[in-house]
Amino acid sequence: MKIKFLGAAGMVTGSNHLIEANDKKILLDCGMFQGGDIEEQLNYEDFKFNPAEIDYVVLSHAHIDHSGRIPKLVKEGFKGRIIATKATTELSEIMLLDSAYIQEKDTEWANRKRERRGEEMLEPLYGNEDVERAMYYFEEYYYDQIIELDENIKLVFRDAGHMLGSAVVELWINEKGETSKIVYSGDLGAKSRAIINNPTYVNGCDYLIIESTYGDTVHEKVEENVEKLISIIDETTKRGGTLIIPAFSVGRTQEIIYELNRYYEKESLENYLKVPIYVDSPLAMRATRVYEKNADLFNTETTDLILSGDNPFQFPNLRYVDSVEESKMLNRTAFPKVVIASSGMADAGRVRHHLKHNLWNKKSCVLFVGYQAVGSTGRRLLDGVETLKIAGEEVQVNAEIKKLDGFSAHADQKIIIDWIDKMTDKPKKIFLVHGEDEAQNTLKSLIDAKFETECVIPKMYDEVEITRDYETVKLSHFDNIELMNRDLRNIIGSVDEKYNALIENLEKIEDDAHLKKNYQDYKDKLLEIQNRIMEMIVIGGK
Ligand SMILES: [Zn+2]
Repeated sequence: MKIKFLGAAGMVTGSNHLIEANDKKILLDCGMFQGGDIEEQLNYEDFKFNPAEIDYVVLSHAHIDHSGRIPKLVKEGFKGRIIATKATTELSEIMLLDSAYIQEKDTEWANRKRERRGEEMLEPLYGNEDVERAMYYFEEYYYDQIIELDENIKLVFRDAGHMLGSAVVELWINEKGETSKIVYSGDLGAKSRAIINNPTYVNGCDYLIIESTYGDTVHEKVEENVEKLISIIDETTKRGGTLIIPAFSVGRTQEIIYELNRYYEKESLENYLKVPIYVDSPLAMRATRVYEKNADLFNTETTDLILSGDNPFQFPNLRYVDSVEESKMLNRTAFPKVVIASSGMADAGRVRHHLKHNLWNKKSCVLFVGYQAVGSTGRRLLDGVETLKIAGEEVQVNAEIKKLDGFSAHADQKIIIDWIDKMTDKPKKIFLVHGEDEAQNTLKSLIDAKFETECVIPKMYDEVEITRDYETVKLSHFDNIELMNRDLRNIIGSVDEKYNALIENLEKIEDDAHLKKNYQDYKDKLLEIQNRIMEMIVIGGK
């Protein structure tokens, strides 16, 4: 048996792991790379396998960084089975359609520029019809149901407590009479979260592939975060500002609504500032409907709330915004309000439009409630950029920039260690995926100190051969050109940072003609370096 790590290796997005056993090819997730331009470019690269040869895709949950390249897979010849929970299937449909819409819009925008420069037109990664075809291959299952893919492969989904329908995958593969058990954590949830259950423990396994997003963090308590959220709403709106909360439309948005509902329903009307809360995301609206349809998956607290007659997704000052016109209206007058809009890292979606209208305003506040990947707009704002280019316009950042980590839907260091500790049969080997370097290294040293198990941090494109005596496990780079290209892309990333820093300074020395000329020269040189590296990547890739 072989496992190849083809995404979310040394990074948090693009989850995609290929298991080859018994002449069968199983993909664990097929997610999109997200973050900055460098990461996103990886989505356009060819798969490192023939999509037509994949027998099964086992999908852990509907988040785009786990599901987003499924339509591309189908577009390029996949004809196998996609195995997912019922809620994941329902959420995947609306999320992938939304993703196709974004792909098409982004390409349209890029092509307008390319056309003016006389460059070749780009094709979107996929469109609506590819998503519709992909949905045809989905099969819906329930948690804890034994799913026999064939005589040698079976699996069970357990509630991962990360988002509605999210699953930990227990996978048994029989090869030549010997069964190996692989557990894939997908994204492991945090504890005591709104709406969904705590992550399920599993008994054990031979090999564990586990996420490590917050391997170096211990989250704040969620109750404290709810209090902080309420006080940030109060402070911002009392001084006449708008609070913008960039949030994933599916999962995080519903959790925030749930918490706000609990707060506003509890307080008597006179006791709170009755500011309007807008959820400006058609996707969030559709997702909330899927949540309502799958109430059987909710935790006891949410079920009790519903039984008491309260709909957790509705309260008097909450409004779902659907049309673009209404969304634009929100910025026509600067009345105090809260706007929850996607995307969560502020790289796309309606939130950018709200940022454009509010970042300059020091009365306003932008509050991040989720993970911000390296290179993303959210991370740059948190790192303190002074200006931000949005829709072709340079906007001064005067608004307050804040974050709350406690809403995270991911297990922190403590939960991950405890989750492994609860396994009665400890894995023979642990692979850490879905994490950045620091988080992974910290988690690895904790695992090394606490467990006997060998813990490995696979690099992108690493291939692991699993032999039946479990002794010799070989790590090899099977595609050096790809690794080289990835390094080159990282170099472009650092040149890019220099370039951006330069642009900021350029504005400050507007009046000094001599300095300005030197800056211009240096800027041109940086551009030239980038172009040269881009050429090398193209050549290397061919
Ligand atoms: Zn996720």
